[in-house]
Amino acid sequence: MPRPIQAHIDLSALKNNLRVVRRLTSSRIMAVIKANAYGHGLMRAAAALDEAEGLALLDIQDAISLRDTGNRQTILLLEGFFAPQDLPLIAEYDLASVIHNTQQLDWLDAYPRKHALQVWLKVNSGMNRLGFLPQEVPAVMERLKSHRAVREVVLMTHFSHADEAEGIASQLERFSGLSSAYRAPRSLANSAALLRYPAAHGEWVRPGIMLYGASPFVDMSAQQIGLQPVMTLTSEIISVREIGSGEQVGYAGLFRADQATRIGVVACGYADGYPRHAPTGTPILVNGQRTRTLGRVSMDMIGVDLSDIKDAQVGSRVTLWGEGMPVEEVAHAAGTISYELLCALTARVPVRY
Ligand SMILES: *Cc1c(COP(=O)(O)O)cnc(C)c1O
Repeated sequence: MPRPIQAHIDLSALKNNLRVVRRLTSSRIMAVIKANAYGHGLMRAAAALDEAEGLALLDIQDAISLRDTGNRQTILLLEGFFAPQDLPLIAEYDLASVIHNTQQLDWLDAYPRKHALQVWLKVNSGMNRLGFLPQEVPAVMERLKSHRAVREVVLMTHFSHADEAEGIASQLERFSGLSSAYRAPRSLANSAALLRYPAAHGEWVRPGIMLYGASPFVDMSAQQIGLQPVMTLTSEIISVREIGSGEQVGYAGLFRADQATRIGVVACGYADGYPRHAPTGTPILVNGQRTRTLGRVSMDMIGVDLSDIKDAQVGSRVTLWGEGMPVEEVAHAAGTISYELLCALTARVPVRY
């Protein structure tokens, strides 16, 4: 028998979550499937998201694979092209491309084919990661509008605080002030902005994490939004023992029992993508009951507290995250975000759809 760890991907949940997005907006939906669809499998996720108007990712080879299997949606390259030789491929496969710097503009100038490209012009409205400053945009827009190779321009920006109290006001104001001068379609909202700021929906929304069934907010659960978890990571207990008061568990003895404790060992570790920084007390399900991890996460195993789960034994089912155990909670306990856990699932974990 193979090692009992497994990731179950529920594609009907993915479809449900897309319908949740659809009910929240009348904008076109650019479903973000970067990072192997946040760890869920690019091709399968893309197929399940066929009702979205577009798909956004980073790697041109992934975009070409989608086209080669018959995909007809708008496909957007979120970081654009990385070399001038990408441009003929972008045209041939009818991909849309972000342009965020002058290097890309210069490469574009040297590309001759007429009306070949749909460009998403990225505006740096305050994130200071990618994009042109608002004051640079009018000149860039002129350059693109008169460019022989450019068929359509979409104006886009990305928010730094859509999931936090600070919100999007100053970035939205900067972007709106500038985009209102053009008839170009606009795209601003990630999942958090889509959920919290209808004024920022524009013509295209760009949900990622919520499609995979996780909430982008600490103060609102996925369930409250109507989202269903898509990935459920399960394994089994492979060892059970009683330890006495004062005995320790795992590397560096990070957990020390202050009373007799029944512990289990789960076949899941950081080499599977479980966060090594998850401390003692990180929530986990055994036989459908909530308990806590104990001690340091090792490469292939984690300790769990079975003191209150009397029927737990070798072979008992464990849910690391997903159905019944929100990935956001596990991420929060480990000092990270759901995105990182989902993307970090490693290649050795068998995936079942
Ligand atoms: C990843 C990404 C998104 C999706 O963000 P979520 O928070 O996962 O909804 C949207 N837009 C851009 C530019 C991105 O890079």
